[in-house]
Amino acid sequence: MDNIVPEIPNSFSLPRRINRLRDLTYNLWWVWNPEAQMLFSQIDKALWERTYHNPVIFLRQVERARLNAVTFDRFYLDNYDRVFRNFDSYMAAENTWFKRTYPDLVNRQIAYFSFEFGLHESLPVYAGGLGILSGDHLKEASDLNLPLVAIGFFYTQGYFSQHITEDGWQEATNLYLKFDELPIIPLFQEDHRPLMVSVDLAGRKVWNRIWKVQVGRVPLYLLDTNVEENAPADRQLTARLYTSDLELRISQEILLGIAGVHALRALGYDPNVWHMNEGHSAFLTIERIRELIQDGVPYPQAVEKIQGTDVFTTHTPVPAGNDEFPLWLIDKYFTQYWNDLGISRDQFIDLARTNHSWGSETFSMPVLALRLSNQRNAVSELHGQVSRKMWQYLWPDRRPEDVPIIHVTNGIHTGTWLAHRMGALYAQYLGTDFIDRVDDLDLWDQVEKIPDAELWAARRHLKRKLMAYIRERVRYQWLNGKVHPVQVVAAGVLLDPYMLTIGFARRFATYKRANLILHDIDRLLSILNQPNKPVQIIFAGKSHPADEPGKLLIQEVYRQVKDNRNGGRLVFLEDYDMNIARYLVQGVDVWLNTPRRPNEASGTSGQKAALNGVLNFSVLDGWWREGYNGHNGWAIGDDTEFADPNAQDQADAESLYDTLENDIIPLYYLNRTAENLPVDWIAHEKESIRTLAPQFSMRRMLIEYINQLYLPAIHSQDPERAIKEM
Ligand SMILES: *Cc1c(COP(=O)(O)O)cnc(C)c1O
Repeated sequence: MDNIVPEIPNSFSLPRRINRLRDLTYNLWWVWNPEAQMLFSQIDKALWERTYHNPVIFLRQVERARLNAVTFDRFYLDNYDRVFRNFDSYMAAENTWFKRTYPDLVNRQIAYFSFEFGLHESLPVYAGGLGILSGDHLKEASDLNLPLVAIGFFYTQGYFSQHITEDGWQEATNLYLKFDELPIIPLFQEDHRPLMVSVDLAGRKVWNRIWKVQVGRVPLYLLDTNVEENAPADRQLTARLYTSDLELRISQEILLGIAGVHALRALGYDPNVWHMNEGHSAFLTIERIRELIQDGVPYPQAVEKIQGTDVFTTHTPVPAGNDEFPLWLIDKYFTQYWNDLGISRDQFIDLARTNHSWGSETFSMPVLALRLSNQRNAVSELHGQVSRKMWQYLWPDRRPEDVPIIHVTNGIHTGTWLAHRMGALYAQYLGTDFIDRVDDLDLWDQVEKIPDAELWAARRHLKRKLMAYIRERVRYQWLNGKVHPVQVVAAGVLLDPYMLTIGFARRFATYKRANLILHDIDRLLSILNQPNKPVQIIFAGKSHPADEPGKLLIQEVYRQVKDNRNGGRLVFLEDYDMNIARYLVQGVDVWLNTPRRPNEASGTSGQKAALNGVLNFSVLDGWWREGYNGHNGWAIGDDTEFADPNAQDQADAESLYDTLENDIIPLYYLNRTAENLPVDWIAHEKESIRTLAPQFSMRRMLIEYINQLYLPAIHSQDPERAIKEM
């Protein structure tokens, strides 16, 4: 690692007194620390918003006079000094959870591979929930001081901004990312050439540049094939996420799995645990077997060895969602591999062979990952049951309940998703160190101590903030002459911060049923327009540009949003991303989720809402099946699954309207105190925060990964320990 030189770009200059803003810019620690964010925003709030919270662009564009001004501002400088004291002590990592808990394991290494990482809106190399989970995983690994290193892609054209046309069609504008406008650190070799690793793709040598993103204490390395050494087509390999072109897809998965291993080696890592977050990176197993065989380890022992150290997390509850390749593609890309491994084509294909009822055979990435890791998990209890049933055929002599796939339910990174204002309340009533004890169930009993009026004031503040933000965005669009008047209404100018507000925001995939609440439109309209108890609903979400049914769903929702009969109480917010997600999960009253069971493996956006005192109203799928206790939100439907999807929709919609009319709306509007506090509603909020914030924290989740998945992998390499356990 000594011969690798990181070179932080020198694209802005700073007054000496505040020149450490550069260190902050190139370490994403500021993303989950509100006082650190203020060091940027307080210099020029409007520019900070306009540059979309991207500190590189912000510091490049900000006027020198503004930078100079803060160097005379006592308040600013006090905060500056405090933030850097905290940052330095954080990075020095002296008294950390991992060191205290596992002092003898601090020199181990865990490698974490994921197709996408959602760390912040200014670094858009993610698409949706999987990426947000990976990003939250890294942040918590940093907080716990887990010795983790991550591998992903720098997608230069992976992200698009969404505009909805007047007739409800999603228009996508591609963003082109440039490394020197992002908090990305280029890596060089000693001779100043960019650090690159190559991989063989069907006889072509393809080069990957390696970039670094520093996430607190955790490094994330991003691969990028857009380098001169590659043929023009290969330069595009890492441009976009989730292509439906299978050949492009297998190439990307070879890059992630195999070039990813090469990258770790070039950087000097020798991981003890290899975590595949979803099957996209499963080719890393093949490359590691090849390495061992090259070192003289016989094939069966090599397989056994890597199985011991591999961890695989599945996120896919339906067979059709699984990633698989036709065998001709495997022949094209892997013939050299089975020669190197000294096995036959059949033996190689057998590692991941899947027989379909229609007679064809494919090579399945989750099967490869399941066969070649001894530590396997699903992401919620129900998803665990579904996965054990789905993959039982790989363990034909076991009953489904004995299939060795455990579950660890997803969680969210507290610092990232918690509103500053709510954090201040928790610090006051739970203790200033509450974030370090966020998974402690007893700690959260103290939520009861928060006075109703204070909690309600914080909730009202966040709702006003959401609506002010929405109005400002629409006003800007209107000002620029980009939209028709009806779109101004559809985008939320008629929203009212005193009304019960429901949020529905996530990717528009059909199984998420964004249209369930529109099932009986007349009944919905009468709910929205009740004179003294009105309701407003804010929708947001993107569809993958190639997902036609998803885009039709947006159109169906938008048609209702535009309809004057809803009186401006149905709203569609364009361009859902982490920034909008934060506003919504912090600012609405109710978080609605209506997936078709059991398709939502876990879901996490409702967990973000719960942390901020928003009440969940959801199908009993994924995490909510475990989180719901009868008093901390509401269920849509029950545990029964209908064979007929139309019957399911009908029953779920009935349940949704009934609960809304009979429980949710009265709870919000009735039984108000003389100070106009909805005491029963506030009691529900407290119950929701108390029970859900610790249980669905990323801290609880990551500690379970450590204890149930990473430690067994580490111990598989420790012969003494293995003998003791036998
Ligand atoms: C949390 C989050 C998701 C995941 O949402 P689900 O409703 O759990 O699918 C997707 N996109 C963004 C931007 C998020 O912040």
